[in-house]
Amino acid sequence: MDNVRYALKEDQIEQAAQSLETASAEEIIKWAVQNFGNRLAIGCSLGAEDMVIMDIAVKIKPDVPFLFLDTDFHFADTLELLEKAKRKYGANIIALKSEYTPEEQAKKFGPQLFFTEPNLCCTLRKVMPLKSALLNYEAWITGIRREQAPTRRNAKVVEQDKVFGLIKVNPLVRWTHQDVWDYIKRNSVPYNRLHDMGYPSIGCAPCTQPVKPGQDPRSGRWAGTGKTECGLHSEKDIAKLT
Ligand code: SF4
Repeated sequence: MDNVRYALKEDQIEQAAQSLETASAEEIIKWAVQNFGNRLAIGCSLGAEDMVIMDIAVKIKPDVPFLFLDTDFHFADTLELLEKAKRKYGANIIALKSEYTPEEQAKKFGPQLFFTEPNLCCTLRKVMPLKSALLNYEAWITGIRREQAPTRRNAKVVEQDKVFGLIKVNPLVRWTHQDVWDYIKRNSVPYNRLHDMGYPSIGCAPCTQPVKPGQDPRSGRWAGTGKTECGLHSEKDIAKLT
């Protein structure tokens, strides 16, 4: 993608990644706040990891912006959690919208694009709005963890984000699924109630199914399509727009 603007040199990023590899999530978020201040945002889909990050980050920088991709296709439970998070944390949540309403999208690209061309739907409703919002920042924090998927196995605590051209900070990259849920329970962090109903990973309603115990936690996302990422963390899933 264009608009590459790394605020740190490659060797500085590598050095930060190494020195923070064993740091706690709190220490990593503090490092990000100290280094990027108001040029730092947090990606927030309201998943379990994002709620952990919110719980930690608002105590470090109460006004840090959380970028929430309001795709217009979320579960009601997700929107309910959004309101709960605003109430509990007073978090500065910025809702990002596609330039197309669902009706406009259906008219221009066809109905049920999420089934016919999910990469294009994600590009229009997630990648493009986030790309545009991230132009205001030098770094963003995400909730990705290495054990979530093969595509995330080599993620570092601090790295160049080659999709959006800025620095990406991943404070939970070493955490296990159990670590996340231990933190949530210990700290009474609000979470999406769909997690208790067989949905370990929650995206938009048309593209998310429950999974059976023991199944890959992300196998309920775009099930049966071969798609595994929305494009926010992997360039190969972004549709080319003409
Ligand atoms: S997850 Fe599904 S509905 Fe949401 S933006 Fe992607 S394809 Fe569209």
